[in-house]
Amino acid sequence: MNRLIQAIAFAADKHRNQRRKDADASPYINHPIALANVLANEAGVDEEAVLIAAVLHDTIEDTDTTASELESVFGEEIAAIVLEVTDDKRLPKGERKRLQIEHAPTISRSAKLVKLADKICNLRDVADSSPVQWSLERRQEYFEWAKAVVDGLRGVHPLLEAVFDRAYRNKP
Ligand code: NDP
Ligand code: ZN
Repeated sequence: MNRLIQAIAFAADKHRNQRRKDADASPYINHPIALANVLANEAGVDEEAVLIAAVLHDTIEDTDTTASELESVFGEEIAAIVLEVTDDKRLPKGERKRLQIEHAPTISRSAKLVKLADKICNLRDVADSSPVQWSLERRQEYFEWAKAVVDGLRGVHPLLEAVFDRAYRNKP
């Protein structure tokens, strides 16, 4: 519990100047907290490392946080999970999206749980508080891409996968 709270404080500090892409420009930290909430309270996941990695999942990708920093503060296991769900930002966006589909079946079970929660939360956001100026077509494409990623993650947690399937039913 204390380490989870430490992770929330760490992520809140790292994301402090970032906002989501919705019309209200919601605080970025709402998103990592939403992942942990889906995992713990909608799917009953109680593994501390998974919940902590969920809270930290966008720190390397979207802030100045390094893998070695996560390793020194939270340990090797958590740093490894976060790295598994981190895109290589040196690659073009289309390539990153293709690689997510390709890599999904090969990542660890813990990373699959975090990625499923990420896709659930992002589908809910696209459905309810979409990035500003996204066309209907772009929102639909996002749903299809997220499903293609999740189809490669299946078999790890039927309840969490059912939560995803419910979110997908709200495809615009
Ligand atoms: P982005 O990857 O730029 O945006 C989606 C990501 O933004 C989410 O995965 C999420 O990532 C984050 N995010 C922040 N706020 C929100 C929110 N309110 N709702 C949902 N997600 C949010 O966009 P795309 O997924 O469309 O990827 C870009 C691709 O789209 C490229 O391949 C590009 O070529 C193509 N493109 C398509 C266009 C079209 O009209 N179809 C137009 C322009 C580009 P996280 O969880 O990491 O925060
Ligand atoms: Zn995310």
